[in-house]
Amino acid sequence: MPLPDTTAPQQHDTANALSVLLPLPVVGPYDYLAPEGMDPAPGDYVHVPLGSRELIGVVWGPAAGDVSAEKLRPITERIDTPAMPEELRRFVDWVAAYTLSAPGAVLRMALRSPEALQPPKPITAYKAGALQEDMRMTPARARVLELLRDGPPRTARDLSREAGVGTSVIKGLAKMGAVVPIELAPPPAFDAPDIARPGLALSEAQSEAAIHLRAGVEADGFSVTLLDGVTGSGKTEVYFEAVAGALSSGRQVLVLLPEIALTPQWLERFERRFGTAPAVWHSDLGQTQRRTTWRSVARGEARVVVGARSALFLPYTELGLVVVDEEHETAFKQEDGVAYNGRDMAIVRAQIADCPVVVASATPSLETRINVERDRYKAIALPERFGSASMPMVETVDMRDSELRADQFLSPQLIAALSQTTAEGEQALLFLNRRGYAPLTLCRTCGHRMACPSCSAWLTEHRFRKRLQCHHCGYEEPAPTRCPSCDNANTMVACGPGVERIAEEVRAQMPDARMEIMTSDTMRGPDTAQRLVRAVEDKEIDVLIGTQMVAKGHHFPNLTLVGIVDADLGLAGGDLRAAERTYQVLQQVAGRAGRADRPGRVMIQTFQPEHPVMQALATGERDRFMELEAEAREAGGWPPFGRLAAIIVSSRDSDLADALARDMARCAPNSPEVRVLGPAPAPLSLLRGRHRRRLLLKTGRDQPLQAIVREWLSTIKVPSKARVRVDIDPYSFL
Ligand code: ADP
Ligand code: ZN
Repeated sequence: MPLPDTTAPQQHDTANALSVLLPLPVVGPYDYLAPEGMDPAPGDYVHVPLGSRELIGVVWGPAAGDVSAEKLRPITERIDTPAMPEELRRFVDWVAAYTLSAPGAVLRMALRSPEALQPPKPITAYKAGALQEDMRMTPARARVLELLRDGPPRTARDLSREAGVGTSVIKGLAKMGAVVPIELAPPPAFDAPDIARPGLALSEAQSEAAIHLRAGVEADGFSVTLLDGVTGSGKTEVYFEAVAGALSSGRQVLVLLPEIALTPQWLERFERRFGTAPAVWHSDLGQTQRRTTWRSVARGEARVVVGARSALFLPYTELGLVVVDEEHETAFKQEDGVAYNGRDMAIVRAQIADCPVVVASATPSLETRINVERDRYKAIALPERFGSASMPMVETVDMRDSELRADQFLSPQLIAALSQTTAEGEQALLFLNRRGYAPLTLCRTCGHRMACPSCSAWLTEHRFRKRLQCHHCGYEEPAPTRCPSCDNANTMVACGPGVERIAEEVRAQMPDARMEIMTSDTMRGPDTAQRLVRAVEDKEIDVLIGTQMVAKGHHFPNLTLVGIVDADLGLAGGDLRAAERTYQVLQQVAGRAGRADRPGRVMIQTFQPEHPVMQALATGERDRFMELEAEAREAGGWPPFGRLAAIIVSSRDSDLADALARDMARCAPNSPEVRVLGPAPAPLSLLRGRHRRRLLLKTGRDQPLQAIVREWLSTIKVPSKARVRVDIDPYSFL
């Protein structure tokens, strides 16, 4: 094969042709011409024409040159704002290549706030002007001029407040030229964190851990450290020291939390440590806040950002530390659009910035544990709770022995413990990872089950709202009074419990207990969440009943009893991480009990007390359990000992989905190191009206997974009525 001649002169003049990446789910950058005198550099934000539209894109590099220069359209305008940092551009390309997504689809995540590119509105302030000879001096005017003679320029509002005059006085002075308007840049939206403030006095174990982390930050350069500390060991306080270290070296810090762990409690702790609030970034931010925060990060004014996974795509200019708290959380995995794992990409982001990462958890993921074992990550342990707090007592309640009616879900043991706890003025938490009243409604007479019309899923009853809802697509209908199938009245019955039903049972058993439900439905908005958290802290609530929402990060000193209503719930289904995940969630929930001086107690209701997950929770033998998990996964070649890519084929036409999935299986790669499993109907074989089939590509650890998938897919022609989605390192098998 002849080598390409790299010294050959270019055929046509492409000197001022450039490639521009647009935030669109298309293939890659397009070429444009830079008009005379514009001279855009890589990273510059520009307006370019596309068809009849005009879009904002980012100059990505030299032109690809596959379209001749005379056919290229010119860039319309270069936006006068700091360019997208090279690190972020490299990150966008990296994420696109890893997840097999279009770079434009990834860029879209980094351009969520295009309004932020426009310069902020300047603020008009007044300074003293020339004194007018013929001006009539009133006491009000004198006060204004006095203020400005001695101090910095002030806005009309500040002037009128400080001088105690109406704004008309200032307007009058301005008209005469006695005060002169000037434009000031708006003040920074975020104050610099105060690193000189003393943190809490750390315990010996904590300060040892903190010294390690700080050393990592000061050493500079990429490294990953696992902060492996039991619930209540004070991991947050310890990584705050690493944050302080990075700040004192003049770097920016990103702290990633699973969205639901972004609690007011966390923010308060940050403020107590650093004297000011961090910049916050998550999906519920309003437009204005989003714009301000984005711009503050780009200008280096925001020194610490705490956010959900999307905060990875902010334009940090001097990132010096990334913290991933609750690193085991599957909520870091994004399933829609570009499928990526926020924890893994955080490590990539830090590698690009050449800075350290701290990942923290009480229940580290198997992936992370294996990386520690292989010496890729360092690890620091905090094996004990802070202060006088001890780990809670954990016991299982064998539900096979409890003779409960079909509409009862709390064992006599748990009810007794609840009563005792509340009688002693302490608080209890009941955990059930199911929203609503009941997961299934059926007709007692004909057996008809209420199902979602567009998903293969039952409808969940929400009794407070008198509605049935699909938790996959959001479809809703009123709860029926007659059976839609046999038309009998009053025959529809609820099957199984959700948190609302547990609340009903507690109320029946303990009418005086003050109770509250904490779920994503009842915690809409940070204000509601904060009120509820306060109410628990102020002991206005005796029994808290909740889903995953309660497992995260909360610290309630007076909470001493945790009851897990159905510990087996997460074990069903074919998810390869089901056991690991169930253990992690239940351990986190259990970790809410007895975090202060009073000892905690955890009761686990289960039909399989001999299950390794229940045993690990009861005995506290976490490492033994995880070793067994590792053995099982290694034997099967599952992650992290092998690699997976899920391919989901979907169409509104089930035959088409079947045919395409079969075609794909037929030309699937196959070797001892590369296997394709399926096609099988995805567990949710119908979702939002689309029929879904799943293929799983499983390879050895060192195989080039992306290249294999790319080559395989390139042989397939996807009909316009079908879709193929790739999920590298899948977590959800729905
Ligand atoms: P974890 O995240 O490991 O579960 P936290 O960081 O939430 O633990 O700490 C548990 C509780 O202990 C928090 O209320 C925290 O403020 C408190 N705490 C931890 N370390 C200290 C310390 N050195 N001094 C005082 N309080 C501490
Ligand atoms: Zn649905």
